[in-house]
Amino acid sequence: MKITDVQACVIGRQEAHSGGSVWTFVRIYTDEGIVGTGECNSGGPGYSGFATKEAIIAMKHRLIGEDPFNINMIYEKLRRGGRYGGSTTAPLIFALTGIDNALYDIVGKALNVPVYKLLGGKFRDKIRLYADCHAGETDDAQAYAQKAMEVVEMGFSAVKFDVDNTGTGKLDDYNWTVGAKEMTHVIGLIEGIREAVGYEIDLAIDCHGQFDLPSAITLAKAVEPLRLLWLEEPVPAENLDALAQVRSTSSTVICTGENQYTRFEFIEMFAKKAVDIIMPDLAKAGGIAEGKRIADIADAHYIPIAPHNVSSPLGMMAACHVMAAVPNFLLLEFHALDIPWWNDLCDGDKPFVENGFMTVSERPGIGVELNPAAAKSLLWNGDTYFD
Ligand SMILES: [Mg+2]
Repeated sequence: MKITDVQACVIGRQEAHSGGSVWTFVRIYTDEGIVGTGECNSGGPGYSGFATKEAIIAMKHRLIGEDPFNINMIYEKLRRGGRYGGSTTAPLIFALTGIDNALYDIVGKALNVPVYKLLGGKFRDKIRLYADCHAGETDDAQAYAQKAMEVVEMGFSAVKFDVDNTGTGKLDDYNWTVGAKEMTHVIGLIEGIREAVGYEIDLAIDCHGQFDLPSAITLAKAVEPLRLLWLEEPVPAENLDALAQVRSTSSTVICTGENQYTRFEFIEMFAKKAVDIIMPDLAKAGGIAEGKRIADIADAHYIPIAPHNVSSPLGMMAACHVMAAVPNFLLLEFHALDIPWWNDLCDGDKPFVENGFMTVSERPGIGVELNPAAAKSLLWNGDTYFD
């Protein structure tokens, strides 16, 4: 089998509180008529949305004529061959991720097996999810607690809230010291959610790397009795020594990784003892095979993996195949509570999410396809659909 064409298109809408709901899809065509589709991150709202698509198209000439079964060789050809041009960081690594996922989709379809069977089989049939929650334009503890209860009613056994965007008492946008007023407010929010959901429900808190070191340490210590599932990115992900310092000062579980890519950045995280749990984004970190490598290296350190996920049903199912195939999976993010068209964008076994779980597809390949009509109606900023 030979690759004959590579195309990409950007689909999505900018929804409130879901900056990640713009996705790049890669489609790889073969001389045997089998077509694979992979998803990857578009580069975030700070870019045009087309950075990853342009990177994919720029790599097309290196893919034409290759046998799509040689997934690892193709990945290393692009990654190693592009190192001096930044192939191990965004947006090029996002492009490699989408390409790798599309190749797995092709090989699964060609062999008539779901992707998890290409990864050594599965440890579990269903992937446990946590819901990323937003209480709307409020910083009221009651509203946070109310939202948490609504989501628990939907069947989720774990929830996550952001505490970096309250603005209470902020005197300067660029200084990340959390003053006494804001710190008291943030701790009150977390206490309010914990009180509402009790200890039966797992509760994670995301700081989005918007606190400085002394503030992060104060917060991590203050919430120790609340037994958080994790405190996420208490300081920016770019300084692992600072993160390790936060981790060493309290028993609060520290999680990071949505802005780290490839196994090499995670190896560094483990060497510095900076994390208790990792959360690579499997639509960014390098692809299906690289996601499994990261998980396996984490497992050798007895560290669980709880991937960050803001993908469409297609990208999320790709993550489910990887997480079915590793022992140390903890839970996977669901980020589409506020996206009414999320289910309609794709075809597959619906509902994709039910009672806080996503069932791993048994269909050949990734097992989820774009719905052409829905996808065409959601093309990003004048982009064109696949031929
Ligand atoms: Mg986060």
